[in-house]
Amino acid sequence: MAILKIAKLGHPVLQKKCAPLDDPTSTDTAKLAKNMKETLAVIGGMGLAAPQVHNPVRMVVFHLPTSRIAPGSPLEPWDYTTLCNPVLTPLTQEKIMNWEKCLSIPGLHGKVPRHTRIRVEYQDLAGESKVIETSHLLAYLLQHECDHLDGVVYPMRMTDMTYLAFNSDPGRLSREVAAGADIDPLFKQLGEAWPEKDNWL
Ligand SMILES: [Zn+2]
Repeated sequence: MAILKIAKLGHPVLQKKCAPLDDPTSTDTAKLAKNMKETLAVIGGMGLAAPQVHNPVRMVVFHLPTSRIAPGSPLEPWDYTTLCNPVLTPLTQEKIMNWEKCLSIPGLHGKVPRHTRIRVEYQDLAGESKVIETSHLLAYLLQHECDHLDGVVYPMRMTDMTYLAFNSDPGRLSREVAAGADIDPLFKQLGEAWPEKDNWL
């Protein structure tokens, strides 16, 4: 098992447009995909883009565990999947604000406008062309991960920076949780755990 080192905000590898993956079926690609999956499983997280592990090629590994599905969401859990050379197309102009964190930006979270429905065309590790059409959290996650392949991190997508906060002081998030919003359970826990909330809400 190999746990890969995560590149943190400011590292040049996170700022470049990544190169296409030449051969999705190569043993090097399979090894990278396996190591990214193992890294995600150990550190916890739903998605990882190859540049986040210092490998600037167009590849993403993601999964959607039951624990991250909000009540009322139409999504089903999704097993670990590798996207080689993904091309993401929004299927709606409509956007929604989504709470996000990033393994490359530890300690912070923010609320990011994301398209509500998307299509991703990609190759799998056998070199087969595949398509995913999805919505809700899975659509937001794939937009976040595919952005990494073009050197874009979530704060660069934010339109209201007052939603950027430390995980230790999640004021606006805590207010939403207190108001009963149906959000990603991870963020609900973060909002509920804020020790200051009785002073400020
Ligand atoms: Zn990220």
